Amino acid sequence: MSDRRIPLAAVIGSPIAHSRSPALHAHWLRRYGIPGYYIPMDVAQADLAEVIRAMPKMGFVGANVTIPHKETVLGLADLVTDRAALIGAANTLIFRKDGKIHADNTDGYGFVENLRSGAVDWAPKTGPAAVFGAGGAARAVLASLIDVGVPEIRLSNRTRARADGLQKEFGAKVKVFDWVQAGNMLDGAMTVVNASSLGMVGKPDLRVPLDALSAKAVVTDLVYTPLETAFLKHASEAGCSVVDGLGMLLYQAAPAFERWFGMRPEVDDNARRIVLGI
Ligand code: NAP
Repeated sequence: MSDRRIPLAAVIGSPIAHSRSPALHAHWLRRYGIPGYYIPMDVAQADLAEVIRAMPKMGFVGANVTIPHKETVLGLADLVTDRAALIGAANTLIFRKDGKIHADNTDGYGFVENLRSGAVDWAPKTGPAAVFGAGGAARAVLASLIDVGVPEIRLSNRTRARADGLQKEFGAKVKVFDWVQAGNMLDGAMTVVNASSLGMVGKPDLRVPLDALSAKAVVTDLVYTPLETAFLKHASEAGCSVVDGLGMLLYQAAPAFERWFGMRPEVDDNARRIVLGI
């Protein structure tokens, strides 16, 4: 095998046609003059293991993984980082030169970097966090909030059993609130996160009374279609700093690009525009 092989990367999911990751990575490859390619791959669950094992032989240096394969790939990797194991899912695979497949999860990193860059005064240690939603994305949010030292995480989900399950996994810092009383989580909260899919185009809005919300809170929404959800709009009207979800997508991509192509790409307005397709 030649050392001069063109490095390839991919995003593997099903469906995958909607993904903006190929446009983002193509932009960075162009910008840094790297002769590589990043392609979308629609792979069925039954074919996943065979496809992933074949990829290094074809010149792939790694891949992003998205719904519905993020959990399954953990079982196909030779090495799983602690944070991917804690989250219970991987979004990044690295095909190492020694033939080993390394699985990582950069979603939590993307979540935190987005808040740090979008709300420079964000001080997560100074008060509780309130999180709506208990799906796959919420797992990465919980792991990273614990990592940055929030004193308490209040969690609410339409299906309470899912939130209770996360409480058991993530421990005593997590306090579960009933969905019908989710507004109570906001009293004194310094970090407020919509990690549910409510507010996405085609879904109802996340409607929660914001009376208890302090103007000192930093409020973010993982939903980025639309960029300004009704939840963020109302939080902004209440005087809070708000951070949209697009930056999380951009920041989670940067460490993966660096691992595959050897250079840390910049998350800037150009990258943002590329992902928005404008
Ligand atoms: P998921 O695993 O399917 O979980 C969906 C979550 O939304 C669950 O908590 C679910 O509650 C809740 N939900 C859905 N419909 C609801 C409704 N009608 N009423 C109340 N709750 C509802 O999805 P996910 O992977 O966690 O993703 C969640 C959102 O985050 C999606 O919009 C996704 O696009 C976004 N996201 C963004 C980024 C980023 O980079 N910005 C990264 C990852 C995900 P139940 O448990 O009751 O069903």
